[in-house]
Amino acid sequence: MLRLRFRINDIFLLYYALSHPELLKSKRWDQEIKKIRQSSPHGYDAIAKNLDWSWRSALAEANSPKDSSIWLNKVTKESEAIFKHGLGAPEFKKIREETQVHLQEVQMEWDKESSKALKILEDIIRMPLPSKTIEVLMVHPKLRGGFHLAGHNPKIVWGHKEEWPKYHIVYLCHELLHILFNPDNDINQEILHALIELATDNELRIRLHGKGRYFYVGKKYIGHDYLKPFVKNIFPAWERYLSNKKINLKELAKKLTTKK
Ligand SMILES: [Zn+2]
Repeated sequence: MLRLRFRINDIFLLYYALSHPELLKSKRWDQEIKKIRQSSPHGYDAIAKNLDWSWRSALAEANSPKDSSIWLNKVTKESEAIFKHGLGAPEFKKIREETQVHLQEVQMEWDKESSKALKILEDIIRMPLPSKTIEVLMVHPKLRGGFHLAGHNPKIVWGHKEEWPKYHIVYLCHELLHILFNPDNDINQEILHALIELATDNELRIRLHGKGRYFYVGKKYIGHDYLKPFVKNIFPAWERYLSNKKINLKELAKKLTTKK
């Protein structure tokens, strides 16, 4: 059985709060960041503005400011000081507490709905989900985290306000599919991502709600703008896939990739 383990990694949460203060809209946090920038301007920019994906994945494994400095030594020598400062800030404690409350909300929804949702998901993709535990690193809901960290120990990063019922379930399943299908050189990444949107943001959402329509919740288009042309392109093939159950989602993704 596939399980999710929800947790907070303080270092990763802090890194994310340092990089996206505009989303937190907290004057106190802005002031704290100002102080950090004054003492380590280059270090702050290296961490908060220019950190690439592999370093982010490394930070998700760090357990202390010292760990962060081992990982980020090549990026900046100041990371230990920056993370120490941030962890000690009263405003960060507040961010962390609110993230903990959010974790409990998301976990409760997952515990309640996931066995049903995962069954539907397996039915949609026509593949068994692996029996393993995947870690979900929670961030503050205002930070709108929703992505996965690839690598030998892939993780989901999640923290978002619930925009409609079962929002967390649908998007956790979306990220799960990214992890399940990644990386595969035989599959075009945009086509794959468009299929993940069709399978989770749309089909899974509608089956979980027992109602709804593709692409819109209320008046709002859901899904990435940059994927719109891909989604449009493959939609007829997707409809055929749903009615004709001969191949699974991976096979469909490969088929659509070679057709291109
Ligand atoms: Zn995605």
